[in-house]
Order: sequence, then C-alpha cells, then structure tokens
Amino acid sequence: LRVKCVPEAFDIEEEIIKTMNDYDKDVSLKKIDLIIGVYRSEDGDLYLLPVVKKAQQMVLEETLNHNYLSIRGIDEFTKAACTLILGDIEKQWNDETIFGFQCIGGAGALKIGADFLHQFMECTTVYFSDPTWVNHEPTFKSSGFKNIRKYRYFKKESKSLDIEGIWEDLSNAPENSVVILQVCGHNPTCVDPTKEQWKKIAKIIKEQKLIPFFDIAYQGFASGDLIEDAWVIRYFFQEGIDFICAQSFSKIFTMYNERVGNLMFSMKPSSEIDVIKSNVSKIVRCMYSNPPNHGTKTILKILTNSELYNEWSNSFTIMVSRIKTIRIDFRKALEDLGAPGKWNYITDHGGMFILLNFTSNQLEYFQQFYHIYVSPPGRLNVTGLNTNNIDYIAKAVTETLKKS
Ligand code: PLP
Repeated sequence: LRVKCVPEAFDIEEEIIKTMNDYDKDVSLKKIDLIIGVYRSEDGDLYLLPVVKKAQQMVLEETLNHNYLSIRGIDEFTKAACTLILGDIEKQWNDETIFGFQCIGGAGALKIGADFLHQFMECTTVYFSDPTWVNHEPTFKSSGFKNIRKYRYFKKESKSLDIEGIWEDLSNAPENSVVILQVCGHNPTCVDPTKEQWKKIAKIIKEQKLIPFFDIAYQGFASGDLIEDAWVIRYFFQEGIDFICAQSFSKIFTMYNERVGNLMFSMKPSSEIDVIKSNVSKIVRCMYSNPPNHGTKTILKILTNSELYNEWSNSFTIMVSRIKTIRIDFRKALEDLGAPGKWNYITDHGGMFILLNFTSNQLEYFQQFYHIYVSPPGRLNVTGLNTNNIDYIAKAVTETLKKS
C-alpha cells in the first residue's frame, strides 16, 4: 500500500493524538490529563450522570429486538432533540418545516450537513471562527469545500471577542457561503457573543444571503440553563432565517462513546423539503446506512420522561456551579502567584475550556516539566482541575509563562 501524506488540516488533530499518547506513556505520578473536553468530577475521574445509568437500564429492559432503525433514525428522538433547542415546535414539525436526522454524534451531523451543502446546494465556501474546533476544517475539506475561510473571532492579547472582526469578515463573505456558528461555550475559547451582538450577526447573514450552520455541543454548560444557551438559534428561528444545526449529545449527557447526534433543518414552507430529505437520506445510506440505537433511546427516555428530564436538567446547576468555582479559584491562584498577564477572562466567561495560548516551547515545557497535558495551543479542560491539583497547575502555568 502506498499512503499519501496526511493533509495539512489534520495537523492539529495529529498533535492532540500525540499529546494523548504522550500522556499514556508518561510514568510520572504527577501527570494530569486536561486534554479532551469531557466532564471530570472532583476526584479526577470521568463522570457518568446517574440519570443516564438509570435510563440505560430501562432501555435495556424494554429492548425486545435489535431491528434496523430507518435512515433518518428515531423520529421521536429527532423531534425531542429539535424541541430541546427550539421549545414548542408541534406546528412546524407537522408541516415539516422543521425536521431532523439522527446522526453519529455532533461530528457525524456536521459531516452529513457538509456533504449535503456541497453536493446538493453547490456550496464551495465555508467560514469558521478563528480559532475553532479542530475537526471543522478537515470535515468540510473532506466534503469537497474548496474555499476554507476564517472569520476573526478572538483577540489573543485581551482574550476577548473580536466582534468588529466577526461583523466585518461576514459582511465581506460572498453569497451562498456557509457560516459555522458555535452556539455557546465556544470551543476552544469559551468566549461567546452577547444577544445584541448575535442580532447583528443574524442581520449580516440575512443581508449577505449566507447559510448559517449552527454547531451546538455544550448546551447548558455555558450558563447552566438549557434554554438560555440555545437563545441564538431561537432568535434565528423567530426571524424566519433558514438554518441547519448540528447537535451533539456527547458532553451534555456524559455519553461520549454512544455517538448520539441530530442534524436539524429549519426551512421556510416554500422550500423543497422532500427533495432535501431525500438527498440527505442518500448521503446517509451510502455512508453508514442507518444510525445506532441504544444511546439514542437512552437520551430519548430522558428527554421524554419528566422525572428523568428534571433530574438531568438540574444536574447542570451542579456541574456548572462547580465549573464556576474552579474558574474563581484558578484565577485567584494565578493572581496570587503573580502569573504574567491579566486573568479576568477566566471568570468573565463560563464553560469547559480555558485557552492559555502557549507557544510551542511553553507547551513542551509545561508538559515535560510539570507533566500536565493540554490540547495545543494550551486549551485546558476546566473540569480536570480540582482542590488537589489546582495550586500545582496554577504554579506550573505561572512558571511556564515567566520562563519565556
Ligand atoms: N462541535 C464542537 C464545537 C465540539 O467541541 C465537539 C466535540 O468536541 C463536537 C462538535 C462533536 O461532538 P461529538 O463528540 O458528539 O461528535
């Protein structure tokens, strides 16, 4: 076999895999894993929501066979998933202006969406925030998008939103460009636009005739409130702007390996809805034929059983309040140690990540000397910090920044 070189877009992904391998190989007792965005509890272990365990058991007991699902997956699930974002959609569901495809995680929903936009909407240009989740670019490249563009998003110095940059870059985007919009808990910065800023983004998207493609993977993790975190999608919906949305259930149900996702379409009644459904079905049929069952049924159980739903939504209060406490304590520890720079951004924003933006030398030093592993270029999983390691991590950050 002769294997071609790995395309450039996969470099960062490669770096993450390398970091994970380095962590596994590290024999130091001090080693700390802050690499991937998974929820860790105070003891440092991966957390599984008790409500998920309960629902899983119920689904197991109710499962009579393992028949194939349809190409679009479980209709009840896609409806519950769209409802989780938009609230009451009974009318739109019945007139089919809103519909969903059960997908293989959020990543799968993005890929199916990207294939659809390229193959059937003749889209060739896509815009991502700079920076963005590492998988965005390779996904759209692999679907055939020729023009991969970035809109300014993050001011590295002040670690704040570059809203003027977003507005300007989107105002210059050509018609029919796809714009990936992370809804909340932006990966990797955790800096999100305000409602007023979103409104202007929506106006530009409408005026420029761009195609908004939402990516929501952290609903609930930014503010602690599921409805508040989906506000921008509801706003686009109210404004009558057609959109596509890739929804991930991995983080919000602590079910990373069950690969549950939904690709939502919200279209005007005049759109050729049957054609869209049939085209997306063709893509799915050729890729994996039909989606898997167990994780999706588990989530459906929680979304449609009021007792389980309340238990689940209340768990955000606990998880997000822990994240807030860690952010406060981490900022204080850094400021007490006189870490170079300003640290207000750590408590100004919520969510799972803090982006330290290390240089490659700093990253290497941090890893080799302190045995702390983060995603390049220094994105750390906040939930991996706890009372036992927070001072050590703050000291390591301080020393690393002072060194160079
Ligand atoms: N979108 C963003 C912004 C993400 O951070 C992630 C996962 O890290 C995904 C999508 C994909 O989620 P999933 O694990 O469900 O494929």
